[in-house]
Amino acid sequence: MTDTLISGPVADLDADAQVRADDRGHVFHSWSAQAMIDPLPVAGGAGSTFWDYAGKSYLDFSSQLVNLNLGHQHPDLVAAIQKQAGRLSTIAPAMANDVRGDLARRITEVAGDGFEKVFFTNGGADANENAVRMARLVTGRRKVLSAYRSYHGNTTTAIALTGDPRRWANEPADGSVAHFFGPYAYRSAFHSDSAEQESERALAHLEQTIILEGASTIGAIIMETVVGTNGVLAPPPGYLAGVRAICDKYGIVWIADEVMVGFGRIGEWFAFQAFGDDLPDLITFAKGVNSGYVPLGGVVISERIASHFDKISFPGGLTYSGHPLACAAGVATFEVFERDGILERVRDLGERVIAPRLRDMAERHPSIGEIRGQGLFWAIELVRDRETREPLVPFNAAGADAAPVAAVVAACKSEGLWPFTHFNRLHVAPPLVISEEELIRGLEIIDRALDVADGYT
Ligand code: PLP
Repeated sequence: MTDTLISGPVADLDADAQVRADDRGHVFHSWSAQAMIDPLPVAGGAGSTFWDYAGKSYLDFSSQLVNLNLGHQHPDLVAAIQKQAGRLSTIAPAMANDVRGDLARRITEVAGDGFEKVFFTNGGADANENAVRMARLVTGRRKVLSAYRSYHGNTTTAIALTGDPRRWANEPADGSVAHFFGPYAYRSAFHSDSAEQESERALAHLEQTIILEGASTIGAIIMETVVGTNGVLAPPPGYLAGVRAICDKYGIVWIADEVMVGFGRIGEWFAFQAFGDDLPDLITFAKGVNSGYVPLGGVVISERIASHFDKISFPGGLTYSGHPLACAAGVATFEVFERDGILERVRDLGERVIAPRLRDMAERHPSIGEIRGQGLFWAIELVRDRETREPLVPFNAAGADAAPVAAVVAACKSEGLWPFTHFNRLHVAPPLVISEEELIRGLEIIDRALDVADGYT
């Protein structure tokens, strides 16, 4: 197998065979029946594109797992990691470290006035674990509420918090979790017929859930600010303000899970900033903080919560908390965002390039039930019937049931687009550095692939 740096797509079928053999022989993959998968061997990437060993390129409309915000092999991030590796590759979390402190200061500055400290983790799940732990210690209450349509990670408490079917096989995990319905106007659990009504009714339902679960037992409510994998569901007007008010009324800690939407996905540092002035008590992040070049996540802690631990020890820690290589890539991320106006370009591309094209597609494709999103984070909800809103594939579909969406995915891939799908939805989540030309090209591929979906209506 070649060990030289590959500067662009070239066919190397020997390498392809070797990577496939090692992978299928020895790598145990996530969320999969091991004999049923055929992972694509990836040889390299640059910006919004990656390529395989056959020399075929893909435009990455998934940002991998919606983490690669600055794209593949961003030169500033690569250089920052290389430089830090030459200075100090690792140091225990108990030491003070320059890049770690620099990154923590920058994160608290962009989070807003009430935020003081950052507890670093290795990713999103352990950020949520530790946020919940903090809330439990501060309130002395154990129960946590989370939404049915949610994903919070795959460690013990994080998978228990998760609302989607990935939780089922892991139950019972942490039993002190109760779920509620978040707002979702298109498939309202509350029979609402406007965003305002959905907001009011979802808040009334949340308060009822708190009362029936016992307010004095509930330490935290955790919510994805914009629900990610489970639908790109933004909070309707007034919802976050209502959550803040309910949390204050009952002494509950609000944890905003910003693992997928933080760091620019919708054109804000943190997504809650797009929906008003209300601040959560704890913010969890990972993914976009350094585009996943080196694993990193964390909890941004408000002064109120942080001060609780001034004299009382926080009983938690990780060997790689605030790893210098990961933090150096995080500091470089801030520099690129500020220098290149990433937040502004995300908002602009969303409004000017994506929104009108998706609206136009929705008029022409009977398989589109709804489009929704902002910035570089959109969902196309596919249906068999626009009137009844019957989804193109059933909830939690797999195998033959999922065939219509698999056919759309195959059509995208055949034209060199790597899409992100979940159940009956196609998400548009490319790297934030995608060029306008690439974005338009990708949307045109989706437009053609939707002809396949139309065939099932
Ligand atoms: N929270 C949200 C909203 C996520 O989307 C994810 C991952 O997709 C996680 C938490 C878990 O993050 P990780 O996979 O880094 O543990």
